[in-house]
Amino acid sequence: MSHDRKPLISGNWKMNCNHFEAIQIVQRLAYALDKDDHEAVEVSLHPPFTSLRSVQTVIQSDRLPLVLGAQNVHPDPEGAFTGEISAGMLAKLDVTYVIVGHSERRVHSGETDGDVNRKTKAVLAAGMLPIVCVGEDLDERSSGRAESRVAEQLAGSLDGLKAEALADVVVAYEPLWAIGTGETATPDDAQKMAAFVRAQIGERFGGAAAAAVRIQYGGSVKPGNAPDLLAQPDVDGVLVGGASLQVEDFARIVKYRLYQA
Ligand code: PEP
Repeated sequence: MSHDRKPLISGNWKMNCNHFEAIQIVQRLAYALDKDDHEAVEVSLHPPFTSLRSVQTVIQSDRLPLVLGAQNVHPDPEGAFTGEISAGMLAKLDVTYVIVGHSERRVHSGETDGDVNRKTKAVLAAGMLPIVCVGEDLDERSSGRAESRVAEQLAGSLDGLKAEALADVVVAYEPLWAIGTGETATPDDAQKMAAFVRAQIGERFGGAAAAAVRIQYGGSVKPGNAPDLLAQPDVDGVLVGGASLQVEDFARIVKYRLYQA
C-alpha cells in the first residue's frame, strides 16, 4: 500500500435496506469502529437512493467520520428522465463517492463504456469522486482476454478526462466471476490486475496520474481474505457487496490491518 493513498473501504449495499434499517446499520457500524480505524482507513457507505437522506442526517448529527456514497447517477444535469437522479442532487446530499459502471448495471441495464464515461464526467463536474468499475467475465478470463477487456473498459470509461482528474478517480477492479459468488481473485491476481490498471493509466495520462489514482479490488471480499488483498502494493482499498450488510464482518474488514501477518 502506498503511503499517500489512504485505503478506501466501500460498502455497496445494492438494493437492500429500507431507510430505517439503513440508520440501524450506520449506528451499529459507528459503534464498532474507533478513532484509529478512521485514521487508517476511509470508509464509504453506498445505500440505495431512498436511504441517502437518512444516512446523511445520522452522519451529520452524530458527527460520524463515515463518508456517504451513491450506487449510480444519471449523466444529464436535469430534464425529462423519469426515475433518474442527477449528480447535482447527490452532491446536495453531501454524497462524496458515486459508483459508476458497476457490472450489475452493465449487465442488467445495458450500460456501455460510453455511458460510464458520461457518468464519470458528471460526477467529477459536480465535485464528487467516481468509483469506476471494470472487470472481465469468466469467459474472458479463461480465454486469456482479461487484460484486454479491462484495458478497453478503462479507455472507454476514462476517455477525455484531464490527467489531473485521475487523483479524484477510484477504479474498482471487480472480476464478474467473483461478484456475489463466494469466489475471490487471489491476492496475486488482484495485484497483477491492479498493477495493470495503474500501468494503463500511466500510459494514457502520465506517471503522476498513475501514482495518484486509487484502485480497489471487489468480488466476495470477506474478513478472512481482506487482509491479504489489502496487503498488495497496488490495491488501495476494497469494494464490498454482501459482507458490507453484516456489520461485524464489515467492521472486521475495516480493521484488516489488525489481522495482517
Ligand atoms: C459488489 O457489489 O461490488 C461486490 C463486489 O459484491 P460482493 O462483495 O458481494 O461480491
